[in-house]
Formats: sequence, structure tokens, C-alpha cells
Amino acid sequence: MTDLISMTIAEARNGLANKSFTSLELTDAHLAAIEAARALNAFVLETPDKARAMARAIDAKIAKGEGGPLAGIPLGIKDLFATKDVRTTACSKILGNFVPPYESTVTSQLWRDGAVMLGKLNNDEFAMGSSNETSCFGPVVNPWRREGSNTSLVPGGSSGGSASAVAALLCMGATATDTGGSIRQPAAFTATVGVKPTYGRCSRWGIVAFASSLDQAGPIARTTRDAAILMRSMAGHDPKDTTSVDRAVPDYEAAIGKSVKGMKIGIPKEYRLDGMPAEVEKLWSEGAAWLKAAGAELVEISLPHTKYALPAYYIVAPAEASSNLARYDGVRYGLRVPGRSIGEMYENTRAEGFGDEVRRRVMIGTYVLSAGYYDAYYLRAQKVRTLIKKDFEDCFAKGVNAILTPATPSAAFGIGEKGGADPVEMYLNDIFTVTVNMAGLPGIAVPAGKDAQGLPLGLQLIGRPFDEETLFSLGEVVEQAAGRFTPARWW
Ligand code: GLN
Repeated sequence: MTDLISMTIAEARNGLANKSFTSLELTDAHLAAIEAARALNAFVLETPDKARAMARAIDAKIAKGEGGPLAGIPLGIKDLFATKDVRTTACSKILGNFVPPYESTVTSQLWRDGAVMLGKLNNDEFAMGSSNETSCFGPVVNPWRREGSNTSLVPGGSSGGSASAVAALLCMGATATDTGGSIRQPAAFTATVGVKPTYGRCSRWGIVAFASSLDQAGPIARTTRDAAILMRSMAGHDPKDTTSVDRAVPDYEAAIGKSVKGMKIGIPKEYRLDGMPAEVEKLWSEGAAWLKAAGAELVEISLPHTKYALPAYYIVAPAEASSNLARYDGVRYGLRVPGRSIGEMYENTRAEGFGDEVRRRVMIGTYVLSAGYYDAYYLRAQKVRTLIKKDFEDCFAKGVNAILTPATPSAAFGIGEKGGADPVEMYLNDIFTVTVNMAGLPGIAVPAGKDAQGLPLGLQLIGRPFDEETLFSLGEVVEQAAGRFTPARWW
């Protein structure tokens, strides 16, 4: 029998259509892989009974020729997505055993198209982090290790469970969310493909809110094609999210293999950082050479406000988070720690329920929004955001189709290695990704090579608003040139 877990979604789709195997067999193979990989801590909730029931139901539909575009494909769901009757915690103690009575729009579209849910995936608490170390369920382990070393590495964050599970062949694809890099950075750390769609492309309804003007859902998969397949099901207008955009969803998969001849690719000079590892620099030039060989034209561009993106992001994101997280007061959701008065109950619940990073964000956010500071911090950050957006618009107006950058300033680091004494050290990881969220643009991270220690590195492509198709075409060129990367199994 074919190896049921190392196939791509596209391959599994064919196998299911040809009746080479059933969705139940495919699902069982993944459930067994999950059970054998608990050391990675990628799943915070396994839902084997639900998975088998969904697989049986879709097998019956496939038999009748009624399966949808994702018929029978087993997926993992980031624990930030509300799943009806299935515990959803955002990996925070404060949500306790919250079981939503509703399903997020994005996941409901995946089930509509026939996908099967294997369980809920670990993430940084409320998606705040770049290493998946802030989860109340403990850190996720990256299936990749440095050559000749047993050190446990982070998978990146906040969608660390999604990236780790997809890389370790525990699910064929996963949902993820990206507020400042949480899809693309973990994808780069695990040699998976991650897409952060244009703001408004996917509904945010039913996704635990972090920073509402930046949050977007997107897929993590093992190939660019698989990411395109998932995107088509995840995207779409939703009247329940007023920021979702009413635009037809293209057949993203059709963009795979399309010629990129004549496309103008911008190389932003501001992304060439001092002290950036030589390997990252080299990978970036290699990526440019691959695109050039495929017929694209490379042009140097300038995004002059790049250096303000990180500080502005770390004002806007905490400000919105402090407002969004006000709802966790011990009354409506999960945890309640009693007190002598209702005020004390709120305080006790929030003190007990939120982890350190979340508390830090709530405090920063409340501070920058408070009277007297609002103009100096929040309003100024919003103005900077407009300038960052304008930098990109100016480049696109000059005919640039997409922008090529490294996805991260380094490869995966060790668990506990960063941010302990200085949280800013962790924030610096997002240097190449936050600009994209600030500007609302689509971005894709594609595995492109390895560093000297054998760890994967990724390249990022940034596109024009709602032009994810170009990113899929370019991503495929990179993937074809770089090849695919799979971690050696040790777990
Ligand atoms: N690492 C960034 C942060 O901590 C981005 C997280 C995200 O995209 N959810 O805010």
C-alpha cells in the first residue's frame, strides 16, 4: 500500500478519486502518526472519533461521486479557530475548557468542501509569540534538528503546532493565522509553505481575535500547490465579517506552473540587514537567480519606512489586543477565579488566566491607548503604518509585480534560547514579516534551502492586494528550483 502520510494533498486527492484508498484509511494513518509523535506536542486536542466519523461520511459521499474539492483530506486546525462542540482555547488558561457553540467560517468552509478534522493544534497563547513557547500547553518541538545535535528547536510561532504537524507528516495541511508573521515564520522554520492572504480575503469570524486590523487566516502545507488548494476553500466573502471582501475566489491552483516571464520582482534594499547570516543573504540571491532564470526581471526597490515597521507593529498589535482581550473577565468564557467583589473576580481571573507575554501586551496596549498617550503612540503608529503601506503602493505603481525577501533573519533557534531576559530579542524575528500585515498585503513563505547546520530557510514573496495568484506562480518556481525538504524522523 502507498505510504499514506507522505503524500501531498494533490496526490491524495487523486488516490481517493481512483479508490486506491479511502478517507478512513488515510485518516487512520494520520491518527497513528499523531499518536507516535506526541513528543512534538503539536496537537493540544486529538479528535480521533470525530475524524473517523467525518472520514466515513465523506467516503460515502465520494462513493456517490459527491465529494468536494477537499474530499477526505485530513487536516489539523490551529486552536485559535472556534470549532463547534470541540474545545477551543487559543492555548490560554483563561479560556479553560471553552467549547464553542459555533464554527469559524474558515473551518466550516473546509468541512463544506469535504476535509476531515484530526484535532486542534498548539499555538502561542492568543497567537502572541514567534516560537510557540507562550502556549499554556507548553512549547511545540520542531521536527527539524541541527545536524548531529539533539537540541530541541522551536518551530516558530505563533502557528508552531500547524507548522510542526505539517512538516512531521501528522496532517496533510493545517489552518493557521498571521498577525505579524505567524504563518510565514513557522513555515520558514519547518520547510513548509505558508500563505498570509490579503487582509479581507478570508473571514475572521469565529477566530479568536488578537489584533483585528492585522489578523488573517491562511494555510500551511507541504507544497505550493497544496497551499493553493487549501486557500481556495478558506477564502471568500462572509457577511459576518464586515472586513471580509466581496470578490470572487479564483482557482488558485490554476496559477501553479503559470509562466512568470516578464514579471518585475522587487528586491528591497532595506531588507539587507547588518549582521544578517551570510547563508540568508546567499539564499536570497539564489532565489533572485531562480526567478530570473524563469524569465522574471529583478529590480532594486526601496521601502524607506521599513525600519519603523517593527516598533509601529508593537504598538498597534498590543493596542488592539488589549481591547480584544478585555472580554476575558471570568464572566462569559472558561476560567473564573472568585473574589469578594465582581471587580476582584475580574482581577483574579485575569491575573491567573493570562500568561506573561499576554499580560505584557495588555499592559503596553492599555498604556498606548490611554488618555495623554494615545496621540503620541497609537496615533503616530497608525500614521507610520500609512507610510509603510504607501512605500509598497509606490513600488507596485512602478510596475513591480511582487517583492522577494528572506522570510526570517535566521533559521530555527533552540527552545528557551531567545527572549528570556529581553522580549525584544523575540520581536526581532518578525522583522521581514510585520510590514506585510501593516500594509494588508498577501505574502507567501516557501522553503528555499538550508543553513550550514542543516536547518531549513525560507524565502518570502509579497504581492499586490488580492494577487495571491502571482505569489503561487512565483512560489512554485522557487519550489521547483529548491526542491522539497523533509526532516529525518527521530520522534
Ligand atoms: N510574532 C508576532 C507577535 O508576537 C506575530 C504573531 C502573529 O502573527 N500572530 O505579535
